[in-house]
Amino acid sequence: MGRKFFVGGNWKCNGTTDQVDKIVKILNEGQVPSPDVVEVVVSPPYVFLPVVKSQLRPEFQVAAQNCWVKKGGAFTGEVSAEMLVNLGVPWVILGHSERRSLLGESNEFVGDKVAYALSQGLKVIACVGETLEQRESGSTMDVVAAQAKAIAERIKDWTNVVVAYEPVWAIGTGKVATPVQAQEVHSCLRKWLATNVSAEVAESTRIIYGGSVTGANCKELAAQPDVDGFLVGGASLKPEFIDIINSAT
Ligand code: PGA
Repeated sequence: MGRKFFVGGNWKCNGTTDQVDKIVKILNEGQVPSPDVVEVVVSPPYVFLPVVKSQLRPEFQVAAQNCWVKKGGAFTGEVSAEMLVNLGVPWVILGHSERRSLLGESNEFVGDKVAYALSQGLKVIACVGETLEQRESGSTMDVVAAQAKAIAERIKDWTNVVVAYEPVWAIGTGKVATPVQAQEVHSCLRKWLATNVSAEVAESTRIIYGGSVTGANCKELAAQPDVDGFLVGGASLKPEFIDIINSAT
């Protein structure tokens, strides 16, 4: 069976209640392909999750942008996987490069988070990607493979994992990877999965691209054989997110 196209909207640390209302209205009124064709998941900040979940059209799902690495307890400021499950939040984004770089999340820590979130029944959008320096020094695949390895060592079942390849130099910079650059890494990642996990997991796991995806550049990227969708930041707050969802067909 083919891999269903996946479009995630990462709202990051943005929004007021008024702005959230406006974005939800755009999402609810947008003309998009059926959920058999594209899976749409939007990720508002924690505080807006319940309201977005309750107001959003039912075929769109929500994701948290992070969760704690183990069972909740005395971890001030954290939100546990159990709480997300309790609220009916099905997805969580883990290992986003902003958390890796600004909050010092290591490959191992991200791997532990992915394993724990999956063990609690969450689905995970697991982010990987290289910095500009790493790309220029030719180590892109080593970096991405090390990030994937830290996850692969800790989980057995990849059914509920979507891998987001997000080159750090493309995030929020307006400097999108070319379709050739994206395809190259996606295809290498898929080969890495085939070699290090299994042929079945490589074939069935969605590998989505993130980093300055817009309504204007999504079609060409979506046409790449190993690009199974997108994780969208800035443009997920705008009406063009609907165009990006429509690049599924
Ligand atoms: P961007 O962010 O689309 O604004 O570049 C993508 C992301 O960080 O997921």
